[in-house]
Amino acid sequence: MATVLYPSPVFGPVHSRRLGRSLGINLLPPDGKLCSFDCVYCECGLNAERVPHEKMPSRACVASELERTLSAMRDKGETLDALTFAGNGEPTGHPDFLAIVRDVRALRDAYFPQARVCLLTNATHLDRDDVFEAVQLIDRPCLKLDTVDADYIRRVDRPNCPYRIDRVLERMQGLKGRLIVQTLFMKGTFEGRSVDNTLAEYVDPWVKAVTALAPIGVDIYTLARATPVPTLEKLSREELEAIAGKLRAQGVDVHCYE
Ligand code: SF4
Repeated sequence: MATVLYPSPVFGPVHSRRLGRSLGINLLPPDGKLCSFDCVYCECGLNAERVPHEKMPSRACVASELERTLSAMRDKGETLDALTFAGNGEPTGHPDFLAIVRDVRALRDAYFPQARVCLLTNATHLDRDDVFEAVQLIDRPCLKLDTVDADYIRRVDRPNCPYRIDRVLERMQGLKGRLIVQTLFMKGTFEGRSVDNTLAEYVDPWVKAVTALAPIGVDIYTLARATPVPTLEKLSREELEAIAGKLRAQGVDVHCYE
């Protein structure tokens, strides 16, 4: 099945399972993917197969394109629930991410003040102080945490930057009161090894770590779109709900998405 790339710097609005009517802000090039992870399930494809030739959009380009879109939407009487940083890779890897977040908040306030500014991030750049400051300005920061098992992260999320799970969890603690955790569960194999993170050896430490983070919500989901690796398997609703139940038993608010 074909994977997808998104237009840049603005796409949509799309109807998001999590966020409602959401305008996407893609800070990555439109013709490829740039990410500090290389998840085997990534809907944008594997990094090596999606090397971009164009540049990231500049801060000025993001602001002007977004303003043009928001202005047209308002003139047509459209509604908007969210402005979401997402797209062809990791948004916080943009060198001007903090300044762009400030611009987006100002445009949101001017055109659709009720819309929330959201971020889907793999949390790899939280150690950068400018990124951490930017994430503090996001209304709904959704941070990826597929497991706390370092070997699984190396094999499945495949960071191509320094990544220490203890450090990431420490930074996530700093987002108490607004943090949303997002976790993808799946089964199947990759290069002959299991990628099943539904086993107790993965789920139980994840439940413990997520509970300690005290997020305002946890989104758990499974494969919903095409993946670049055909040997991955999605979970059933019942399997997702069984995992959610373990976390709910700790008093955490969990939403499942198939
Ligand atoms: S973090 Fe997201 S964009 Fe990056 S490789 Fe993983 S799924 Fe794809």
